[in-house]
Amino acid sequence: MILIKQVCNILEELAPLRLAEEWDNVGLILGDPELPVRKVMTCLTVTPESAQEAIAEKADLIVSHHPLPFRKTRRITTESTATKLVWELARAGVSIYSPHTAFDSTVSGINAMLCERLGVGDMRSLIPNRDEPEGPGAGRVGKLSAPQTLLQFAQDVKSKFALPKVHFVGDAEREVHFIATACGSGGTFLEHAVGVGADVLVTGEATFHTVLEARASGIGMILMGHYFSERFAVEALAEKIGAAIGAAIDASIDASIGDVEVWASRRESNPVETL
Ligand SMILES: [Zn+2]
Repeated sequence: MILIKQVCNILEELAPLRLAEEWDNVGLILGDPELPVRKVMTCLTVTPESAQEAIAEKADLIVSHHPLPFRKTRRITTESTATKLVWELARAGVSIYSPHTAFDSTVSGINAMLCERLGVGDMRSLIPNRDEPEGPGAGRVGKLSAPQTLLQFAQDVKSKFALPKVHFVGDAEREVHFIATACGSGGTFLEHAVGVGADVLVTGEATFHTVLEARASGIGMILMGHYFSERFAVEALAEKIGAAIGAAIDASIDASIGDVEVWASRRESNPVETL
């Protein structure tokens, strides 16, 4: 029998929690570490849809990229959307673990995966970790094997991630070579991307004023949509967790350990529709 605390250890190896930002809420947020696990569902966000799926499928653990609850919470009642979900999941015996910014920043985390899929090599952190300047950190920056125009690169981002649309900021004909990535709401990474001399920052979403700042600074920006900049990584995370649990079971001498099913939420979808 594999326990929630053992899955937490596997997640700690995949995305060490020391890499999380101070403001974040990561790790096991809801649940009992001593409970056994037979089913694990990953998702980008705990929503009514993904929570219902976890309950219907009798998941023991949700690994949600975005934490729930995220804000400081003084009462767990059904009177707000977030705490209603916490209440319903707790009643159904579903635990919640969130790796969030630890998963953004880890060596094979979301920003590294974005770079890999876009053919960005020679990667390093955009904002190195204070305690380990040579190790993993927030955001990534690296080089394309050959320069492209911003328009070509934006088309590449669109096709490689099967995006319904992509927004870009900057001169379509400018050459881009040095690429920064910051998944999710990565507008706060703009000044760092400018600081290291990146030609373009690829992120999920940014405010209008951040976009204007990018244009004034002469850096390109590509906005994939928050969902699309991170959801693919939650699918990869399900595979990684499944493989790591499988390896732990294979290495165990306890023959009573049964298989664990791990999947990425099938009901989760982008809440923003495109016409
Ligand atoms: Zn996000």
